[in-house]
Amino acid sequence: LLRVENLNKAYGDQPVLHDINFEVNTGEVLVLLGPSGSGKSTLIRCLNGLEPYQSGDIYFKGDHVTPSSKNWQKLRQKIGMVFQSYDLFPNLKIMDNITLGPIKVQKQAKNVAEKEALALLDSVDLADYAQKYPRELSGGQKQRIAIVRALALHPEFMLFDEVTASLDPEMVRGVLEIMLDLAKQKMTMIVVTHEMNFAHQIANQVLFLEEGRILESTPGAQFFTDPKTDRAKEFLQSMD
Ligand code: ATP
Ligand code: MG
Repeated sequence: LLRVENLNKAYGDQPVLHDINFEVNTGEVLVLLGPSGSGKSTLIRCLNGLEPYQSGDIYFKGDHVTPSSKNWQKLRQKIGMVFQSYDLFPNLKIMDNITLGPIKVQKQAKNVAEKEALALLDSVDLADYAQKYPRELSGGQKQRIAIVRALALHPEFMLFDEVTASLDPEMVRGVLEIMLDLAKQKMTMIVVTHEMNFAHQIANQVLFLEEGRILESTPGAQFFTDPKTDRAKEFLQSMD
């Protein structure tokens, strides 16, 4: 579904990603792990066209996505992205937060978009919150809404960058469960997380980054029990 070849990225004269190569097949979950500053967020942002990169090629369904072209706009509509900070619109009710994109960008009829939004809200046990404002929700609830809002656009794959990092511990589980459910439904995903049990549960493949390089690319089942590199072993021990 997505293939990245020889991607290089620098901020000014500081190189941040070196020669990144990987692919994600439809229905797979790729987990990006690595120390702080290793380039995980930067890579995710490159994949979504939020960051320009200096060289390399990205292919989506075999089509070359050129950085400057209109392709990005088309592609971005197929990519759902959720960050650490749920950026819901504070002045819009939950329902309107969710349906804004489908109605404005995808030209869905309002009643159709709202019906679907309700079904999605129901699936994360938040149907009662449709008419509330973001400030009336907890952090965990807001993050579940942020995921629902991305799903309402019918993405073909989802990018998650530390979506539970700013949540209180008791809120984390509910958000992770939504992602586990998505994986069961064979949503293609790239996930950055510091939750190692969750990463172990969800990863088909792990990319381990350090200083902008892929140190290893290992099936999830192997990575957490028998990683290929000593560096990854140390990393896993430090996360215990
Ligand atoms: P963390 O686990 O802390 O989120 P990360 O793996 O996501 O880290 P990145 O945020 O991708 O790391 O940062 C990679 C490198 O790029 C770091 O050295 C960082 O200082 C640098 N960097 C990130 N964003 C910018 C920016 N907008 N301008 C300049 N340098 C940046
Ligand atoms: Mg990051």
